Amino acid sequence: MKIVMLGAPGAGKGTQAKMIVEKYQIPQISTGDIFRANIKNGTELGKKAKTYMDQGALVPDELVVDLVVDRLAKDDCANGYVLDGFPRTIPQAEALTAALAAQGDKLDYAIDVEVPDENIVNRMSGRRACVNCGGTYHIVYNPTKVEGICDACGGKLILRDDDKPETVQHRLTVYHEQTQPLIDYYNGQGILKEVDGTQDMADVFADIVKVLG
Ligand code: ADP
Ligand code: ADP
Ligand code: ZN
Repeated sequence: MKIVMLGAPGAGKGTQAKMIVEKYQIPQISTGDIFRANIKNGTELGKKAKTYMDQGALVPDELVVDLVVDRLAKDDCANGYVLDGFPRTIPQAEALTAALAAQGDKLDYAIDVEVPDENIVNRMSGRRACVNCGGTYHIVYNPTKVEGICDACGGKLILRDDDKPETVQHRLTVYHEQTQPLIDYYNGQGILKEVDGTQDMADVFADIVKVLG
């Protein structure tokens, strides 16, 4: 099963992708996580990506596409995957379609997790991310057992710099301009499924399971 998660920053793509991983035993591929791991390890890619991410801008397509296409060629992707945070632009989506088509392959579902902008700033300012494993929590909606400590790995939780309200506003603008057009793109391919992302996490997931079967 090959799935793309769509939705605004903070809509819950990562949260739902993790639940999909558990139930369907396919890997989650998050370009944001890949970039953050590169930044942490001080790689060239990380250095380049950071300048864009800090401003809430998108990393240029040419730094993203090959990275993802290479990742999808790994053995663990043989039975499918859930892409979270990619594609984010029409050129990225077209490159993905072409790379899959070259192998006689295609995506099965594009799941759009719909959350209105007014809910997003709240979600982001309460989001806490583990510096060690990338796990995400929310101080109100999904708190950890011990404040500031990741339930999964014991790592320290932080508020991401790009989750501060000033940057979130810009990320939302970028989303509407560059990423939202993907909804029409995948609708045109006949694989778009929309779910109401304002529900509780478990209810959002139940709707996704109805789609995936
Ligand atoms: P969120 O989960 O809040 O939507 P991500 O972790 O997916 O955020 O992305 C964080 C940042 O990483 C983005 O604001 C952008 O700068 C960069 N990024 C991640 N994925 C992509 C992509 N596919 N194309 C361009 N930039 C990306
Ligand atoms: P995305 O990957 O789309 O940027 P996340 O999955 O990281 O979004 O979720 C953003 C924040 O909102 C996190 O703090 C997360 O715990 C919280 N969150 C996710 N889904 C829900 C939901 N259905 N209701 C309330 N909060 C949620
Ligand atoms: Zn952790």
